[in-house]
Amino acid sequence: MNPNDLQTLKEELVRISVKAYERGLVFGTGGNISVRVPGTGRALITATGISLGDTCVENLATIEIATGETTADSPTQASKERYFHAVVYRLRSDVNALVHLHPPYATAWSVRGEDLPLVTVSAQANLGRVPCAACAPSGSPQLRDSVAQVVSQNPGLKAMLMGRHGILTLGANLIQAYNLADLVEDSARVAWLAHRLPE
Ligand SMILES: [Zn+2]
Repeated sequence: MNPNDLQTLKEELVRISVKAYERGLVFGTGGNISVRVPGTGRALITATGISLGDTCVENLATIEIATGETTADSPTQASKERYFHAVVYRLRSDVNALVHLHPPYATAWSVRGEDLPLVTVSAQANLGRVPCAACAPSGSPQLRDSVAQVVSQNPGLKAMLMGRHGILTLGANLIQAYNLADLVEDSARVAWLAHRLPE
């Protein structure tokens, strides 16, 4: 990949990360976003311990997709959730960007450990099914495996809940993955309201 294209990819990852934070889809130092670097077997990912709102080109990390480990030349340590990012890239060659956030309504639904109810036409048309990955500690092999299981069992999956944790969306590019995450949270909020309509 030529240096100009790599720089453009980094700038796009920064823009989407800051946008997600400012939109209120994630809080504190939670959440992580990655993008595949074409032809390298690597992905760029946000760093551990740094708020998505403070992400900049200089603090992005790089991982090897084959292992999920931070590369030796990475300027920062990759997010501890790098292993589930890597496994999704290995399972889905059509996916080039992953957005993992903790938006409040969708995260509240994830406590039930069930599919997100899709009550609107746009959620049904654009998300398909939104299953829930089993709850597991952040950064653990169990979480990597529960995410991988949901991806394997749902061909073409675009979005999932992660039990008692948040959401993960899968896109052909960063903008698509971000828009899916925004739609999941909107759908979760509307579902919450719809479930509380008076009889
Ligand atoms: Zn998380």
